[in-house]
Amino acid sequence: MAFENDTALRQLIRKAALLNAVSHDGKAQAGAMVGKILGERQDLRTKVKELSGVINAVVNEVNSLSFAEQKAIVEENWPETQKKEKVEEKRLPPLPNADKYPVIVTRFSPNPDCVLHLGSARAIILSHEYARMYDGKFILRFEDTDPKIKRPSLIFYNSIREDLKWLGCKVDEEYIQSDRLPIYYNYTERLIRDGNAYACECPPEEFRKKILAKEPCACRILSAAENLERWSRMLGGGYAEGQAVVRVKTDLENPNPAVRDWPALRVIDTKKCPHPRVGSKYIVWPLYNLAAGLDDHLMGITHIIRGKEHYTNMVRQKYMYDYLGWTYPEAIHYGRLKITGAFLSKSKIVQGIRECIYTGFDDPRLGTFAALRKRGITPEAIKKMIIEVGIKSNDVTLSWENLYSLNRKILDASSNRYFFVPEPVELKVLQVPKPFTAKLPLHPEKPERGFREYTITPECEEKTASFWVSKKDAEMMENGKVIRLMELFNIQAEGEMDNQATATFISESYEDVRKIKAPLIQWIPKGEEFPCQVVMPNASVTEGFAESACKKLKPDEIIQFERFGFTRIDAVNQKLIAYYAHK
Ligand SMILES: [Zn+2]
Repeated sequence: MAFENDTALRQLIRKAALLNAVSHDGKAQAGAMVGKILGERQDLRTKVKELSGVINAVVNEVNSLSFAEQKAIVEENWPETQKKEKVEEKRLPPLPNADKYPVIVTRFSPNPDCVLHLGSARAIILSHEYARMYDGKFILRFEDTDPKIKRPSLIFYNSIREDLKWLGCKVDEEYIQSDRLPIYYNYTERLIRDGNAYACECPPEEFRKKILAKEPCACRILSAAENLERWSRMLGGGYAEGQAVVRVKTDLENPNPAVRDWPALRVIDTKKCPHPRVGSKYIVWPLYNLAAGLDDHLMGITHIIRGKEHYTNMVRQKYMYDYLGWTYPEAIHYGRLKITGAFLSKSKIVQGIRECIYTGFDDPRLGTFAALRKRGITPEAIKKMIIEVGIKSNDVTLSWENLYSLNRKILDASSNRYFFVPEPVELKVLQVPKPFTAKLPLHPEKPERGFREYTITPECEEKTASFWVSKKDAEMMENGKVIRLMELFNIQAEGEMDNQATATFISESYEDVRKIKAPLIQWIPKGEEFPCQVVMPNASVTEGFAESACKKLKPDEIIQFERFGFTRIDAVNQKLIAYYAHK
């Protein structure tokens, strides 16, 4: 060869071949390289033939390396050529007045009356993310002071802790409001003693009329001493449920009637409705604004991050803060985040489960974290979605597809590929000339992950090989149609009848059928099938066969069934049970 000793040229070609190979699934294309080399070495224009010889030799050499080896060489020698996927992490905007506080403290404060769902994701992730961003503290506070209407349930305390853990939100401190009633009582007494709160005995309708007219009720004008007496009667059981309410005084002229003299504590008959944690130990229970308002200050919360439906609560609580001489934390009220088609109403979830419409809190039709986890939606995708939306106060409507596409990006890189044949139909391929071994990569871009291997050995004189293919694929096998069994060989269909399809072997190389755009279908050799059920997002079940390599999968693994979708493995026993995430 004319250029045998031209090491500079050989190196130039070698680099070009390696770069070409890593961008073409490990197979460099010699044809594409001649022009490229000539562009850099114009002196060779008259020697194209010899040059092609060298290029072919180098390309063969490079193509004999594994994809992993090629990648390693390129990364080591020319890392600049390998574009790192640009990580444009969306960052949250800075918190207002962050430098006013030595430590940033945020909180998430759920009522443990249901499992958490996507609707809570914003409060959780933003609060946690900000605490981490400022090296601060993230507090979990269970707001469980309604033993009657929004009654907490013991199982949910734990499921909420689990959900936060799964979301990657580390809790620095945890409080449970039902442990803190004496604290709320103390401050209530102080508010009453100072004339800033009163125990109101008015029937609700009567009180409403007064307050709409911006007039004080009879209780409001009683002395502090008289109100303190009513207060101790409340604590001592002297009032039945509904007979007395402690109200915090506000400006009666406040333009919003819902703010005026808001209710702070009420009597609940805990003999009838015992609290799941403290039973009937207390009969006076704080309402939301008193307990949350006091706790935010007492727990040192610096930034409250919550939905804008809480704006009025801030207005109410600020009166109490003024009476106690406290400064209200920074409050950020974000807009509503709606996910179209997600079932996010707590009461509907609980009711649906009670009526056995849903199989449980992880029913795939629900937008609960438990359901999303079961389906293989990653917490990283949820977090990304929330951070991308940010803390804007305008309402945002997202679709499931928004979440799926973020999740797909994460899973695409991490999930191994397998074949699944829904509604299997037998396919007989005739005239298979010799045994074939298919080496199917677990991940097309990550050969280092390994392969699944199936050997197809034709049987008897007719040289028949039998497969399972999906019903849908079998139905397109009208006579004469050319199809490629992915990574195996090309066949010509002869038709499908009575759940059996027949075809004839044509050739092995994909190149033969690439031009005519033959459909590529997944297949499972007969005998290598593993029964599989995929639970779909609408809770229907798709039955079929997975390939036998799936017997080695472990629960919680998320894989991609090629041409079907991403699924999370739920159980591997006599059968594979998987939950469908998305395409
Ligand atoms: Zn009254």
